[in-house]
Amino acid sequence: MIIDDQSYDLIIVGTGAGGGTLAYKLAATGKKILILERGDFMPLEEQNRSNVDIFKRERYHAPEQWYDSAGEPFSPQMNYAVGGNTKIYGAALLRFRERDFETVKHQAGVSPEWCLKYADFEPYYTEAETLYKVHGQANVDRTEPPRSTDYPFPPVAQESQVAEIYEAIGKLGLHPSRLPLGLTRQEDDPTNDSEVSGIIPAITHPNVTLKTGAKVVRLHINPSGRVVKGVQAEIAGQSYLFLGDIVVLACGAVNSAALLLRSASDRHPNGLANSSGLVGRNLMKSLMTVVVQLSTKPNSGAFPKTVCVNDFYWGDGDFPYPMGHIQNSGGLLTDVIFAEAPPMFSLLAKFMPGFGLKQLATHSIGWWAQTEDLPDPNNRVRFEGGKLFVDYTPNNIEAHDRLIYRWIEVLKSIEKELDGFQRGFLHPRGEIPIQVMANQCGTCRFGEDPATSVLDPNCRTHDVDNLYVVDGSFFPSNASVNPALTIIANALRVGDYLIERWR
Ligand SMILES: Cc1cc2nc3c(=O)[nH]c(=O)nc-3n(C[C@H](O)[C@H](O)[C@H](O)COP(=O)(O)OP(=O)(O)OC[C@H]3O[C@@H](n4cnc5c(N)ncnc54)[C@H](O)[C@@H]3O)c2cc1C
Repeated sequence: MIIDDQSYDLIIVGTGAGGGTLAYKLAATGKKILILERGDFMPLEEQNRSNVDIFKRERYHAPEQWYDSAGEPFSPQMNYAVGGNTKIYGAALLRFRERDFETVKHQAGVSPEWCLKYADFEPYYTEAETLYKVHGQANVDRTEPPRSTDYPFPPVAQESQVAEIYEAIGKLGLHPSRLPLGLTRQEDDPTNDSEVSGIIPAITHPNVTLKTGAKVVRLHINPSGRVVKGVQAEIAGQSYLFLGDIVVLACGAVNSAALLLRSASDRHPNGLANSSGLVGRNLMKSLMTVVVQLSTKPNSGAFPKTVCVNDFYWGDGDFPYPMGHIQNSGGLLTDVIFAEAPPMFSLLAKFMPGFGLKQLATHSIGWWAQTEDLPDPNNRVRFEGGKLFVDYTPNNIEAHDRLIYRWIEVLKSIEKELDGFQRGFLHPRGEIPIQVMANQCGTCRFGEDPATSVLDPNCRTHDVDNLYVVDGSFFPSNASVNPALTIIANALRVGDYLIERWR
């Protein structure tokens, strides 16, 4: 039995970077807004990334199974909680580069043009940086796009060992810059996320209702097939139907696409809003490799990421194609993805006999090499026999390999100069596992043409008049820098559009 609930002006599904930010933006309109979130609030001790049983594998993976192309089950790295994946993210909040919005030729193919440009996003990047209290340093990174204002806050202090490396990178003629970070400025909980900056302020408004533990399972359409009438959710084992004039999905790129596919009906036999056949396709999730720089001198193992190097973003010397972005990982005792990589630490332990894992983490600096993967329609989310499959074959690999080896050359040069780093490196090369979904995007790309995109430029589905998708799904291409600030900026932009629509 489905229990009928009330009707709302707007229903938002999901409270991550997209949904949480949109809720904040629209709360003051006075419209009757319902937010449905399948998770609950995360207790502070679970959010605290410092010294949590840090080498526990899959701490932040969802208690559900998805399947890879070979039919092997895996539990995805998805944090179902108020704030979504921003509750566990590294809060590195970077703007995409100006060229990321254009057609870019890569060694392995083409990354397509966006229907909107950097200039359309710039005011919203500024608003996003203010809302998420981004601490950064402008005009140092030569790939940085033009900014209308400086960062709202100066960069945070660097760990002394990292500061030494930062200086040494500069002496090599490269241009390291301070990684922009979203921070609350509170000691007990420094990471700024979409619960803190989005949901908490939103629910102080009496017109906004948040229901947690509310998993949306299906969208119901009217007889014409043009309007979503009802949002069906399971709450405490019971089915509810919520009616909304406007419905916004913000479940993350995999889950929003999955929900549309699961909402197939006579009018939408291939999935809701899927006349293009593109719902769930073009999934991207970045190529990421870790390089560990070993040292004899200890560090605290618990410090934020602070370094960003984009000298190889658009290529290098004899390789005239984009290679990607480098950032340090932050203290290895506090980095979630490191925390989930015990095999790497076991390997480290072999290299440094007599060390415990924790000591190893305090005698090394981690680096992330990150490269854009290209949209491929065969990389996709699909349903078969009621199971959710994620088909994903990485591409653009040569560019990524070149970035890794170029970065190791840089670290080797530094090693010669700096005291305490003469221990070598580890870079357990290997594809980032399928379950790492951190940078998932692209499954409902936006664009002008309903034949080649799922969403219009305002992130409304081409096929259904009152249905929007406002999470990482809308990206037509990925960039090599992290995605969250662009998802946040886009939510603010769509928020402005909805306010206009209501007027
Ligand atoms: C370990 C880690 C580190 C990261 N570090 C960074 C970083 O430093 N910088 C950066 O830019 N990005 C980072 N990211 C990526 C960033 O967190 C994501 O890009 C961003 O959170 C995506 O926002 P979203 O709105 O698309 O989805 P999410 O933030 O994933 O939010 C989706 C929400 O929808 C809810 N939901 C899902 N399905 C349903 C349903 N059926 N019914 C109801 N609710 C549902 C989920 O519980 C969740 O709250 C990191 C991610 C991870 C996992």
